Amino acid sequence: RSKKNNGSKAVFFDSSIGSELERRLEIENDLNNVIERNELSLHYQLQVHARTGRIAGVEALLRWKHPVKGYISPADFIPIAEETGAIKPIGEWVLRQACMQQRKWARSGLANLRMSVNVSPRQLQDDHIVESFLEIVRSAEIDPRMLVLEITETFAVNDIPVAVERLSRLRQAGIRVAIDDFGSGYASLKYLKNFKPSLLKIDRGFIACIRQDDEESADMVRAIISLGHSLKIEVLAEGVETPEQLEFLREAGCDEMQGYLIGRPIPESELTERLQTSPLYFMPPDSISS
Ligand code: C2E
Ligand code: MG
Ligand code: MG
Ligand code: MG
Repeated sequence: RSKKNNGSKAVFFDSSIGSELERRLEIENDLNNVIERNELSLHYQLQVHARTGRIAGVEALLRWKHPVKGYISPADFIPIAEETGAIKPIGEWVLRQACMQQRKWARSGLANLRMSVNVSPRQLQDDHIVESFLEIVRSAEIDPRMLVLEITETFAVNDIPVAVERLSRLRQAGIRVAIDDFGSGYASLKYLKNFKPSLLKIDRGFIACIRQDDEESADMVRAIISLGHSLKIEVLAEGVETPEQLEFLREAGCDEMQGYLIGRPIPESELTERLQTSPLYFMPPDSISS
């Protein structure tokens, strides 16, 4: 906002809308050849078994380091990539990298980690997603059962039949499906019935509310866990940040946990180092009694 605009609210408003639009167009434009420019990378965040602390797997999370703007959050650029269609090559790049990484850890004898990859609803609208994903898994030579596709719960109900059909073809090949951000959308129960996920990830909004004085949120979390279990679906809690939350979730019978308390998303090199020092266990903080 330039100095000459200072006196006028209207101009101030216009210019801020203008700059938002400009920023968006820039991102849109820069996303076009982001793969060729080598600006994308993946970080990995641990997912552990709640009872034992054993590592269950990792989630791959996309990072974009823009040459001028620095790191841009996936929450900011994924929606734009979905709109422009750039999500297709980006999504394929993510899957290929994640599969290759899975194989690398497995072959080096470090750990045969379950690899979770986020897939946006927009990617499931693509006719060729099944063939393209299967080809990537085949050429990476990984066990498809070690791959989990995380599908976020928030998408239009009209898209469900096609998405279900494509996901079921992927599942027939052994690939597993998780429902991400469970409880944040409106189609929860319909999803459970149709998508036959093997994992349900409780949205971190619910976990953040777990405090001694919030019995209702605690009840919600318990209800989601028992819903999952009665359908024979494992339940993972996202966004676990405090020892109190961890303890609550263990007591509530939650199967797996993920969050800053267990580990932040980190680059390959750091995770490899961590796997070399304490191979398969997350050590809960001393403060936890169990
Ligand atoms: P998500 O799949 O639900 O991923 C979890 C997000 O929560 C990640 O944010 C992660 O860094 C963050 N997180 C993990 N633990 C904690 C915690 O304890 N506290 C808090 N406050 N946050 C935590 P991130 O990496 O910024 O990703 C945001 C979203 O962008 C993801 O949500 C996912 O929907 C999307 N995304 C990320 N990578 C990809 C990708 O490769 N493809 C697609 N289609 N979407 C992606
Ligand atoms: Mg996810
Ligand atoms: Mg998500
Ligand atoms: Mg999530």
